[in-house]
Amino acid sequence: MTSSQPLELPGYARVYSGKVRDLYAPLDESGKTRDDLLLLVASDRLSAYDYVLDSPIPDKGAVLTQLSLWWFEQLADLVPNHVVSTEVPAAVAGRAVLVRRLEMLPVECVARAYLTGGGLSEYVADGHVSGVALPPGLVDGSRLPEPVFTPSTKAPLGEHDQPMPYADVERAVGAERAAQVRDLTTAILARGNEIAAERGILIADTKVEFGLAGDDVVLADEVLTPDSSRFWPADLWEPGHPQPSYDKQFVRDWLTSPASGWDRASGEAPPALPEDVVAQTRSKYVEAYERLTGRSFAS
Ligand code: ATP
Ligand code: MG
Repeated sequence: MTSSQPLELPGYARVYSGKVRDLYAPLDESGKTRDDLLLLVASDRLSAYDYVLDSPIPDKGAVLTQLSLWWFEQLADLVPNHVVSTEVPAAVAGRAVLVRRLEMLPVECVARAYLTGGGLSEYVADGHVSGVALPPGLVDGSRLPEPVFTPSTKAPLGEHDQPMPYADVERAVGAERAAQVRDLTTAILARGNEIAAERGILIADTKVEFGLAGDDVVLADEVLTPDSSRFWPADLWEPGHPQPSYDKQFVRDWLTSPASGWDRASGEAPPALPEDVVAQTRSKYVEAYERLTGRSFAS
């Protein structure tokens, strides 16, 4: 069974639906919404090219939720996280967590350990990525001397995130907090890569979100998942061309192939995915989870 639409959950009020997650606030005894907690429910929705696709990927919500929980534990000594409990309503078992409701910082905190995508385009233009000068001669897939912080704006639903100059992050959250989230973001990616390397995976880049609980910076949302990161099989890594990956690459490749009949520039929503693309995407998500955690995924 796939879970792509938000449910009615007794005892909770739905407060927001993002591209992938539905957020609910628990109700107190008097039926009022609590403002200190959120139930974060990951659906099986898949977004590509800023569209939510019509075809859900079975088990994706559970894989993302379980993988994030595993990483939160691996990172617990670096940064506190928003998890309060994994005891959730049976209807969303395995794909939901009860979290501390935070005041989210208005920044998508991205770090890159390898050069590709938007970072590569910036580098090709002027040798910099997000204002950081990089050595000459790097190509698609090159490993960077050290992870670089390349923040972006949190675009409203349906719009592209844009690169955010570091000075704008400082303006938005203050210089001290900006330095703190920059250092945390690159540390999370570095730790992620230390752990993933033992399991044959390179994490090219990742996006994390932080929120404030009082004065404390807390890691929220999801962390080091195939939705928020580019995972590459280490044994196939070869700089100089695009790398095969564990994320939505299958979906993107199919959507941009003649088989889909979809023109990205048309402004029209993409078509439904064929069954084999759905199945291959599901198995890539499960494989990433199993390789990283060493656990088998029981759906
Ligand atoms: P957007 O929020 O722009 O729609 P998205 O489509 O990626 O982005 P989802 O991942 O589907 O969003 O939804 C998760 C939402 O929940 C995000 O807006 C995120 O900022 C928010 N969020 C995650 N953790 C917390 C938390 N602990 N407290 C408050 N908000 C949170
Ligand atoms: Mg998100």
